[in-house]
Amino acid sequence: LNRRLDGFGTTIFAEMSALAVKTGAINLGQGFPDTDGPEEIREAAVRALRDGKGNQYPPGPGIPELRMAVTEHQQRFYGLTFDPDTEVLVTAGATEAIAATMLALLEPGDEVIAFEPYYDSYAACISMAGATRVPLTLRAPDFRPDLDALRDAITPHTRLLLLNSPHNPTGMVLTRDELTAIAELAVERDLIVVTDEVYEHLVFEGEHIPLISLPGMRDRTVSISSAGKTFSFTGWKVGWVTAAAPLVTAIRTAKQFLTYVSAGPFQYAVAEALRLPDSYFIGFRDELGVKRDLLAGGLTDAGFEVYRPQGTYFVTTDVAALGEKDALAFCRSLPERCGVVAVPNSVFYDDPKPGRTQVRFAFCKRESVLREAVARLGQL
Ligand code: PMP
Ligand code: GLN
Repeated sequence: LNRRLDGFGTTIFAEMSALAVKTGAINLGQGFPDTDGPEEIREAAVRALRDGKGNQYPPGPGIPELRMAVTEHQQRFYGLTFDPDTEVLVTAGATEAIAATMLALLEPGDEVIAFEPYYDSYAACISMAGATRVPLTLRAPDFRPDLDALRDAITPHTRLLLLNSPHNPTGMVLTRDELTAIAELAVERDLIVVTDEVYEHLVFEGEHIPLISLPGMRDRTVSISSAGKTFSFTGWKVGWVTAAAPLVTAIRTAKQFLTYVSAGPFQYAVAEALRLPDSYFIGFRDELGVKRDLLAGGLTDAGFEVYRPQGTYFVTTDVAALGEKDALAFCRSLPERCGVVAVPNSVFYDDPKPGRTQVRFAFCKRESVLREAVARLGQL
């Protein structure tokens, strides 16, 4: 393994899911739902396959139907207008969008500021691009960003900010005031901001505001999202970038040589998914809101310190309240102790101290599964 990938090894999600399979434990670790997305959208994928749509290489930027559907979605939910031909790029999930963006926009030695705890691919992608990550620590209990610290973290080498809201793993959702302050800084210091918005439709308190909608940000923001979370098809790996044409052109250049294009038939189905009525998006969020309350309440009763998430389908807890000292050791032993798998947030920090005893649980599972998990955790 080269130096750029030194220390990255196996992702914590793969490790913990393998542990769940091996032990038969309830998997509240890796974030994937235990119920697939809408039947009609699955049918759309089957229809595309059967009708020979997308069985051969689709166009590099993604099929026109999906690019159009992405622009309609941005218009419907945020009043944002994009040109489907030059300002949208379909990717193999948000993961590839993040990788292609880093590879396209960063020079070796550039600095990237990102919140920590951070989604694990950020660190790896920044490193693969030869750049340096500069973490900005979000602290319990509310995980609000320290905007003075953000200002202080910007140096002449800072090339971009990599934001994630709603934030995985903490569930923090940036407010309009915070986003406005970040936008003002980006304009003042001439920075590009990459926003990972894969949980855009999973906000229980407040609202999701795309940074690209704020003054001065239209030409300096790269918005990233994906069908995995919103439509419960994490295995389909269809994501997209929306940004000004020069940024999309740069990112497309990198993407061409990563995957060239992502799976064709799923793109037709996701185009239909993006056009589902508002009631789908509201219903999905409300259903998850009930599950959030179920899991958060159960974990509190079981003695965990619970940081109630405003968004995403994760709840971060602190297990120090249970007398535990190390989140990773706790998560490795949890399946054996009580038949549940979780993810240690400590691995998402450069300096593990602030997250040493933080553990994340996913609530995108059937209510009966969550109830059983909570009952088991109550036995600890
Ligand atoms: N960003 C965040 C914050 C995530 O939690 C995930 C996991 N779904 C991704 C990106 C990757 O998304 P995808 O599965 O579409 O590649
Ligand atoms: N985004 C998912 C999570 O945070 C995991 C995706 C993955 O395994 N790479 O759990």
